[in-house]
Amino acid sequence: MGYLIKNGTVVYANGSYTADVLVEGEKITQVAKTIDAPGMTVIDASGKYIFPGFIDTHTHFDLDAGDFHTADDFYTGTKAAIAGGTTSILDFTTQEKGQTLTEALDVWHKMADGKSSCDYGFHMSITDWNDESKKEIKEMTRQGVTSYKLYMAYDNLKVNDKELFEILSAIEEEHGIVGVHCENGDIIKAVTEKLKSEERNSVRLHPKSRPAEAEAEAINRLLTIAKLAGTPVNIVHLSSKQGLKVVQRARKEGQQVFVETCPQYLILDEKEYNRPGFAGAAYVCAPPLRKKEDREALWEAVEKDEVDMLGTDHCSFNMGGQKTRGKDDFTRIPGGIPGTEQRPMLFYQYGVVEGRTSIERMCQLLAERPAKLFGMYPQKGAILPGSDADLVIWDPDKAWTISAKTQVQNVDNTPYEGISGTGMAAQVFLRGCPVAEYGKVHTELKGKYIHRTARQL
Ligand SMILES: [Zn+2]
Repeated sequence: MGYLIKNGTVVYANGSYTADVLVEGEKITQVAKTIDAPGMTVIDASGKYIFPGFIDTHTHFDLDAGDFHTADDFYTGTKAAIAGGTTSILDFTTQEKGQTLTEALDVWHKMADGKSSCDYGFHMSITDWNDESKKEIKEMTRQGVTSYKLYMAYDNLKVNDKELFEILSAIEEEHGIVGVHCENGDIIKAVTEKLKSEERNSVRLHPKSRPAEAEAEAINRLLTIAKLAGTPVNIVHLSSKQGLKVVQRARKEGQQVFVETCPQYLILDEKEYNRPGFAGAAYVCAPPLRKKEDREALWEAVEKDEVDMLGTDHCSFNMGGQKTRGKDDFTRIPGGIPGTEQRPMLFYQYGVVEGRTSIERMCQLLAERPAKLFGMYPQKGAILPGSDADLVIWDPDKAWTISAKTQVQNVDNTPYEGISGTGMAAQVFLRGCPVAEYGKVHTELKGKYIHRTARQL
């Protein structure tokens, strides 16, 4: 019992080839120019690409935002992900003050286990660093968590520079990787206070309150500390040209830095905040959308192999009843936007169709590089004998238009409303099981926890 996918163009980060792919059970067992395998269900993939299942390195499902949780939980979020061809997501477990890392991990397992339609793993956000949490790092590795997240903004989440140094050093002992939200929280507070004395109900102030300088300063400080600690580091959701310049300088001096950006920073810009009335609230996220020149700089970085991953930072809130919390005070608008469902098609349209980059780069950013950095390769992120049969048969000619009304994501808005393009996942396999076709999930709840190992980069 299995599938023989014939005549597709199989995509790797370093090239694409016409080949047949044999799937038996949960695994890929053979990739060759021509495969003869009687008894298998044959799928004709001529004229289509075959990508390894995509990995979203950055989601927040069922996140507690104080008065409510995000619109998408693990059930709807992972279903939306796999509808678009994303077969693995990495969500963020957040340690609360006074909580152990193990306790935090248990909470997230309870939210995800048995409710997921794609495979999933967890990054661990450390917010309460002490001797106890330090001792738990080894236990995290044992439980398959090898990547971490630290915040340089938000009073309830952020770590100080001493803690940053200590955590980077401790994680390096396990050969894990630390991702950091780089924004200088104090600068943001000062600028926001100044702005709020002007007109506190205007969404237009959101990007002004979180300037690119706050990102660039935090990146510079982080990279200085990582250099001292002698560890690599991952910058999550890079949004600005100024921040990118800091990364470029450090790499030139030989420092190992990984970079994630998101579709919103490549495709949208801050003019969205000037929409009439409260409509701009749908685009409130942190870091905020930047200027056109930032978008262009990030695309150039994608093509020059200066960006390693494309995550979404999917963190969905309804305009009705959730975003409205900030109607009279823009700083109270819950920050976050959805996107895990549409990320592959958006990248394909704006990157490949519009000639900014290639299908190979798409494979690298959405599958291969994150699989290697986060200790899942070649189980995930590759079409090789022995890899999980997570496959996306991609129809380059299929036209689409994005709308909140028709999306699988359980939220009443999308920042990509009305955008159209071509190219989407025709068929999605999760560990050998066909689960979705052209944006519709027909087989749900097949997702399993991914037990990850040390980074491979
Ligand atoms: Zn995030």
